[in-house]
Amino acid sequence: MMIRMQKLYYFLGLLVCLLLLQQCKSDTPMSAPKSSDKVEKKHQAEPITKPNPEDHKKETPQEEPPTHTESEPPKTSSHAGVHFTELSTKNGVELDLRYATNNNFTHKKIYDCGRCYLRPEAAENLLKAQQELKEKFGYSFKIFDCFRPKAYQQRLWDIVPDADYVTPPAKGSMHSRGLAVDLTLIDEHGKELDMGTPFDYFGEEAHYSYDHPEAVKRNRWILKSTMERYGFGGIRTEWWHFSYRKATYPLDEWVWECH
Ligand SMILES: [Zn+2]
Repeated sequence: MMIRMQKLYYFLGLLVCLLLLQQCKSDTPMSAPKSSDKVEKKHQAEPITKPNPEDHKKETPQEEPPTHTESEPPKTSSHAGVHFTELSTKNGVELDLRYATNNNFTHKKIYDCGRCYLRPEAAENLLKAQQELKEKFGYSFKIFDCFRPKAYQQRLWDIVPDADYVTPPAKGSMHSRGLAVDLTLIDEHGKELDMGTPFDYFGEEAHYSYDHPEAVKRNRWILKSTMERYGFGGIRTEWWHFSYRKATYPLDEWVWECH
């Protein structure tokens, strides 16, 4: 009986030992992550504090829009319910707004500052024409004049009161309706294409009918035919002047702000 009891105690002892051993084994993986947790946290702490500013620097240029090569949606301004759309180099066009400088036929600065506004339909179609030019020939527009507020038309008239050169303010130019644009073509290096005369050259050489070399005729034809496809019509005596024909607007007094 005693021997049986001893065996039982012995067996129970063994069982307790085995259970304790099992507990010890399962403790090992429990304690191991505690130390590796610290390691992981340490590793995590580095990426959070260190690479973040660099990541930001790396990502920022990628988030920026491509510089001046592709067009952005143009900004639209309005006053008293009348809308104008501003075009700028951000839309892929070059601006050389001559009446905001002395570099024009009057040799006087007419505009307080140079900004290019057109009626939305005209602006939208001009940008479509620009897109086609880019795709077909690698050319872009260089714009000399856009919307010309009535007050600025009056300034022009006061300096050159001659209907052969300037539209009388009372009659009103298509520029003062926000539908006309003066422009030429530039190549991929920004160089103006040869149009036979400079902008605002008042003489027969600026007429479409003038017998220029073939290269000049080709350049004028590219400009005129592209503009016509997008609703703009030229005039006989000025190769640079185009009016949008598919919309009508009254003369406008609004003058853009100068910053
Ligand atoms: Zn014009």
